[in-house]
Amino acid sequence: MICENITVNEKGNLCFAGMDVTKLAAKYGTPLYLMDENRIRQRIRTYKNALTKALGEEAKVLYASKAASFCQMYRICKEEGIGVDVVSLGELYTAIKAGFNPAEAYFHSNNKTDEDIDFAIEKGIGYFVVDNEEELFVIDKIAGEKGKRQNILLRITPGIDPHTYEAVATGKVDSKFGSAIETGQAEQITKTALGLKNINLCGFHTHIGSQMFDSEVFFDGAKIMLEFISHIKNSLGYTAKELDLGGGYGVRYTENDPTIDIAANIEAVGKYIRNKCNELGLEVPSIRMEPGRSIVADAGMTIYTVGTVKRIPGYKNYVSVDGGMSDNPRFALYGSEYTIYIANKMNDKGQTFNCSVVGRCCESGDIIQENVTLPSSVCRGDIAAVLTTGAYNYSMASNYNRIARPPVVMLNNGEDYVAVKRESLEDIIRNDI
Ligand SMILES: *Cc1c(COP(=O)(O)O)cnc(C)c1O
Repeated sequence: MICENITVNEKGNLCFAGMDVTKLAAKYGTPLYLMDENRIRQRIRTYKNALTKALGEEAKVLYASKAASFCQMYRICKEEGIGVDVVSLGELYTAIKAGFNPAEAYFHSNNKTDEDIDFAIEKGIGYFVVDNEEELFVIDKIAGEKGKRQNILLRITPGIDPHTYEAVATGKVDSKFGSAIETGQAEQITKTALGLKNINLCGFHTHIGSQMFDSEVFFDGAKIMLEFISHIKNSLGYTAKELDLGGGYGVRYTENDPTIDIAANIEAVGKYIRNKCNELGLEVPSIRMEPGRSIVADAGMTIYTVGTVKRIPGYKNYVSVDGGMSDNPRFALYGSEYTIYIANKMNDKGQTFNCSVVGRCCESGDIIQENVTLPSSVCRGDIAAVLTTGAYNYSMASNYNRIARPPVVMLNNGEDYVAVKRESLEDIIRNDI
C-alpha cells in the first residue's frame, strides 16, 4: 500500500486509518472526503522535531494552509504549536475564526489587494511575505495609517528550475512570484524595504516548487539565498534574521512514487545550512519551512459511489463516479496521477478491467484518472476510493454544474467526526437573489 494508514479487513473491504471505508460511505453518503487526523499530527511532528533538532528552537514549521483549509486544520496547527501560511482573506478569516493567533500567520500571494492588506494588518497578521515593490509601498502606507510597524519577509526568486511540472515550478527567474536576484530586483526591493518607516524587514523567503523527493533544490535554494544574504550584508549592511525555504517535499500518489524520509532530509538540509553559514561567516538565520502537501496529502482519501459503467468495444471503458472535477480538478489541471481502488472488492481476483475513471460534470476533461485497472466485476453501486487526496482537493473544489461540495470527515483512533458539513441544495443558492 502507498501509505501505512491503508489496509484491507477480513471482509475484503478497504480500511483507512483502521476504519472500514464502505461503512463510512454508508454512514455519511458519497462523495466523501476522509481525513486521518493522527497522520496529519504525525507529519507535523516529524517536521517540527526534525527542524528544531537540525536548526534549533528558533526554526519554525508553517503549514501552507492552501493545501487544505478549514477551521479544524487551523485548530490542529494551533494545538501542535506551528505557524501557518495564508494566501487570501478567506484563509486568514478561517484561521482567526478557528481561534488561530494571526500573529503566527504569514500572508503570501503575488497580488495582495489593498483590502487584503488592510484587513490583515487590522487583525494583527504576523508577517507579510512581500512579492514586489508596489505591494511594499501599500503595506508601508496602510501600516503607517494604523500606527503599526509591520514585519515582512521579501519573496526572492532564486532562478532555479526544479524539473517538476511547469505549473508547480515557482523558482524560475520568469516566475510570476517574487523578485529575482538575477535581474537586480531582489537587491533593489531590499534597499527599498530598509528605507521604509513602517516596514520591519525580518528576512527573506523563497519557494522553488512542489512534489520534490530529495533535498537537492533545498540545498540549491539555501545556497543561493545564503549567498544573497551575505551579499546584502556587504552591500547594504543589513543582516537577515530569518530565512524561509518554502515547501515542497513530495508524497506518494502511486506505488511508483518513491518514499521520502523527511526527517533525514531535513537533517541534511540543516547540516548544509550550518556549513554554508560557517563558510560565509554568517550566523545561522532562523529557518522556516512551509510544507503543505506533505502534511495532509496521504492523510486524505475520497470515496465515491460508482454509477454508469460504459464499455465501448474496440475503444475504451469508462467507470463514472458521483463526483469528479468539482471535488478533484487535479487531473484536469496537471494530469496528476492517482491510485484508485474498488473499496468493497479489494480481494477480487479479476483485477483486469482497464478504464478511465470519470466524473459527472459536463466536460470531457472531467477525468479523475486514465488507464486504471479495476476488478472486471465493477458495477453500479460499488464504492470507489481515490487515495492521497488530502492536499489540493477540498481546497480546489468548486460548485461547477451546481454540484454540492462533499463533507470532510475526520478519523481519529476509531472515531469519526464531521469537520466540514456536506453542502446542501440550500447552500448552493445561498447567495442567489
Ligand atoms: C504552495 C506553497 C507551499 C506548499 O507547497 P507544498 O508542495 O504543498 O508543500 C509553500 N510555500 C509557498 C509559498 C507556496 O506557494
